Amino acid sequence: MTDGPMTDGGSGRVWTGGCACGGVRYEIMATPSPVSFCHCGQCRRQHSHVGAYTTFPRDALRLVADDTLAWYASSERARRGFCSRCGTGLFWDPAAEPRMDATAGSLDEPTGLQADRHIWVDFKGDYYSLCDDGLLRRTSTEPGNQTLFNDPTED
Ligand SMILES: [Zn+2]
Repeated sequence: MTDGPMTDGGSGRVWTGGCACGGVRYEIMATPSPVSFCHCGQCRRQHSHVGAYTTFPRDALRLVADDTLAWYASSERARRGFCSRCGTGLFWDPAAEPRMDATAGSLDEPTGLQADRHIWVDFKGDYYSLCDDGLLRRTSTEPGNQTLFNDPTED
């Protein structure tokens, strides 16, 4: 059905998204994971508050417009992609892994996605409380402390 090496095997849907000003537009050619709310200090700074991310195989990403896409090495492990014109946070890209994340808020609606967990809750800001919303909670050192990645090569 497809020539893509790591697509989701046939939903046929393409997820689209982009920044607020339109300088960056992207497509995801695979079904993204459930959304994680990340409470780490880097996400809170970049997104003004908690980060919301979905993950997918890196080679499922197609950049349709990237004139204003800029990257920031936020750690030794990963870089963050954002629009240099409007400031929208777009991607979290860990170099050593076959996946990457996009911000849930940059996806076009309807996303059809659901959030399933809070992560890095031990680093959450001191200015809010985490109410019980029924979602999983994971600290920075626990398994499941990142958005779920279903690697299709690891069945
Ligand atoms: Zn922009």
